[in-house]
Amino acid sequence: MDVQYDVVIIGSGPAGLTAAIYATRANLSTVIIEGDTPGGKLTKTYEIENYPGIDKISGVDLAMQMMEHGQKFGAAMEFAPVTAVEDQGEVKLVHLADGRTITGRTVIVATGTKERELQVDRAQEFTGRGVSYCAVCDGSFYKGKKVAVIGGGNSALEESLYLTQLVELVNIIIRRDVFRADATVVDKVKANPKINIITKHLPESLVIEDGKIRGLVIKDVETGELTTVDCEGVFPYMGADPATGFVKDLGILDKNGYIIVNKDMETSIPGIYGAGDVTVKDLRQVVTATNDGAIAANSASRYLNK
Ligand code: NAP
Repeated sequence: MDVQYDVVIIGSGPAGLTAAIYATRANLSTVIIEGDTPGGKLTKTYEIENYPGIDKISGVDLAMQMMEHGQKFGAAMEFAPVTAVEDQGEVKLVHLADGRTITGRTVIVATGTKERELQVDRAQEFTGRGVSYCAVCDGSFYKGKKVAVIGGGNSALEESLYLTQLVELVNIIIRRDVFRADATVVDKVKANPKINIITKHLPESLVIEDGKIRGLVIKDVETGELTTVDCEGVFPYMGADPATGFVKDLGILDKNGYIIVNKDMETSIPGIYGAGDVTVKDLRQVVTATNDGAIAANSASRYLNK
């Protein structure tokens, strides 16, 4: 069989794009396959200020610079969701939703995570019309208005701080009485007069009037009492799950669906690697994703040269 590529990279976030830089600079024929937003989650992030050498940069700008850099040394780009990866030993088949199959000698899975969706009645119907998973994209629709952010991790808190530049008030709703975010960002949130923190509550339902969101009903996790929070926008930032459905049959996932890799980013299948947020790891950051991408490409190169 004619194999199209030495390296097939699935996902174009920081991990995938770094893998592309390293693979193409090692003269490996490389394709990046992206099924969603090029640049990954970075494009939905307001600001990055912990990437060494770059004091402060918007997520979109860093993603665009990485996209350009990732393709600079000749990586091809394909746009289609991947439906399955098939291991045939020395050849890997990557099946796409549009019916095509791409063949490679190695595969690097760098698909990251997908945000958890708000599970209340009509949330899906109102996504993009009051429910938003991207403060940077949609925040300006709520200028001078009140919004609710659900969740207390780094994403929820950092995006809440961003929203305070636009809106009148951000209500942060968390289900426990502690945050899951870094201390510095928690301190900034607590000190911000435009943020109201509501602890020990879960979202219950949307208040909809004349086809628009006018509030969020929340439930006290201890007493079950219901309260309505006045808001016109709801931003769920409740964490994320790994985007690994298309490799679920390969036996390379842990019980939560993350890819199990060793220090060389190798899975238990020779020639298949994981990189970035999609892998089992403690610290999910841009800088650790780029680290993984470099290692995965280097391991693929070593495997191909054997
Ligand atoms: P996360 O850290 O998993 O936080 C999720 C938050 O949502 C938690 O407060 C969690 O509450 C809450 N939550 C989960 N399920 C919920 C539900 N069904 N209903 C209500 N609340 C719910 O997720 P994340 O903020 O998206 O961050 C993901 C990873 O990226 C983390 O490792 C994070 O550190 C990293 N990250 C880093 C940065 C940075 O360093 N600048 C920025 C963004 C993200 P509980 O705490 O009660 O579980």
